[in-house]
Amino acid sequence: MLQQTQVARVVPRWDAFLARFPDPKSCAAAPVSEVIGLWSGLGYNRRAVHLHQAATAVVARHDGRLPSTLAELQALPGLGPYTARAVKVFAFEQRAAVVDANVARVLARAVIGHKLSPAEAQGAADALVPDGPSWVWTWNQAMLDLGAQVCTSRRPACAQCPLRAQHCSWAGAHFPQPDPALGSAGVSVRQAPFAGSDRQGRGRLVEVLRDGPLANDGWADAAGWPTDPGRAARVAASLVADGLAVRAGDQLKLP
Ligand code: SF4
Repeated sequence: MLQQTQVARVVPRWDAFLARFPDPKSCAAAPVSEVIGLWSGLGYNRRAVHLHQAATAVVARHDGRLPSTLAELQALPGLGPYTARAVKVFAFEQRAAVVDANVARVLARAVIGHKLSPAEAQGAADALVPDGPSWVWTWNQAMLDLGAQVCTSRRPACAQCPLRAQHCSWAGAHFPQPDPALGSAGVSVRQAPFAGSDRQGRGRLVEVLRDGPLANDGWADAAGWPTDPGRAARVAASLVADGLAVRAGDQLKLP
C-alpha cells in the first residue's frame, strides 16, 4: 500500500482493509473484486490481485499462517526478494538483509564503491547484517533510513553522515565520478510520466469497474481516450491478462 502512496492517505485504507480482512483466510474467502474494491485510490491495482492470490496460497499451503523461510515466502504470488526479506526481518525478526533502492545506493557508494550487480548488492547487504536477533530489525531499519534521509539520490548529506569519516568508500576516494549508485542494481530509474500513460488509462478503467460492469463502447471514454478506442481495447485486454478484469459478453467487469 505504501509503494507509491503517502502514509497519511494509506492509514485509513489500511485500517479498513484489516477490519474487513484481519487474516489470510478472510481475504482468500472473499471474491477478488472485493479486494480490488478496497484497494481504490492506492494505485498499482495488480497488487490487490497478488495479495488475494498470496492469501489463497497461504491458506492452501500453510494452513492460513504466513511462512517465515525465504523460499516459502518467495514462492507466494507477488512476493519478490525485497518483500520476502522485509517480511522475514520486520515480521519475524530473523536474519536477512533488505535491499531497496535506498539501501542499494548506500551499498554502492559507501561499501563497494562501484556500480553493483543484483548479486553483489544482495551479497554485500547479507554480509553486513550483524549476528544476533536483536540487531536484525534495527540494522535494516537504519540502512533504509540512511539511504532515504542522508545518502539521498541527488544531494547526499555527507557532512551529516555517520559513515563519512571512516566507512564510506566513495567519500574516502573524494567522490570520483560517475556516482557508483548510478545504474546499480535496485537503484530506481526515473519512471515515464504517469499522465497520458497506459497506466493512467488502466487506473481509470479499474476505477469505473469498481462501480460496476462497463459495456465495450464505454471503454474509450472511461480510459480517458474518447478518440482512441483501439488503445482502450488494448489496455482492457491487459487488465484481463493481469487478472484485474474479466470479459462477460459485451461487458468488462471486475473478476
Ligand atoms: S558519506 Fe555521503 S556518499 Fe558516503 S554514505 Fe554518507 S551520505 Fe552517502
